[in-house]
Amino acid sequence: MPELPEVETTKRGIEPYISNQSIKKILVRNNKLRIPFNKKLAKEITNIEISDIKRRAKYIIVDFANGYSIVIHLGMTGNLRVSKKIKYLKHDHIIFYLSSGNVLIYNDVRRFGLIQIYRTNESFFLLDNNGPDPFEKEANADYLFNKIKKSTASIKSILLNHKVISGIGNIYASEILFATNISPTRLGKDVSYDECKKILQESKKILSKAIKAGGTTLNDYFNAESKPGYFKIQLKVYGRDGQKCSKCESNILKITQSNRSTYFCKESQN
Ligand SMILES: [Zn+2]
Repeated sequence: MPELPEVETTKRGIEPYISNQSIKKILVRNNKLRIPFNKKLAKEITNIEISDIKRRAKYIIVDFANGYSIVIHLGMTGNLRVSKKIKYLKHDHIIFYLSSGNVLIYNDVRRFGLIQIYRTNESFFLLDNNGPDPFEKEANADYLFNKIKKSTASIKSILLNHKVISGIGNIYASEILFATNISPTRLGKDVSYDECKKILQESKKILSKAIKAGGTTLNDYFNAESKPGYFKIQLKVYGRDGQKCSKCESNILKITQSNRSTYFCKESQN
């Protein structure tokens, strides 16, 4: 599943090909996405220059010069690629014809993703209610500490709660808690101010490392015949149950929290 680093890498991968371009035509081949593409609004973004492309949490936002935007979420299996000509792959659902002559293709096997057009300055339900991601200025220790100081939810589920902080997926939540020596079962109200600070520092460090790892795949975004693959950083706890902890002599444990797998070391994290 694409997490924040993959989304950031996707954004960087397509950016050089769509910046300052306009969309000549949009072809929807299969509109059974999580939310169907709003074709009626397509004329609002046709032949209008793309003025900006950015990422917020796991959303890619493309702004147009006339005050419209599109938001893209890759869902479980979505990806974008740019190509000189179309060579359809299975699950290529939406095709954007660019003024350069290239095409931007949205492919999604499981169709949990979405692409939606909206007015840039109007609130949009998918982007509202999202807390800041760890790279945003708002996401400082004061913010996190105040958000969670009365919470009786586990810190692991808090890190996955996009209303508190967005963009931290299941894999990285385990990695961040291992890096900060905090047990995933600890309640939000028992996490100190300094620990909140550490959580945010490690979040940025770990996500940055993954974005850097993805940098090597950037060439794949301009390619007619293959989909960009998702990349892995060296994971220290995730998926390592039964293996020795890198900090002590204990073995990594796997537990289930809110139906999601959590990996941690009982000795090193408390
Ligand atoms: Zn340990």
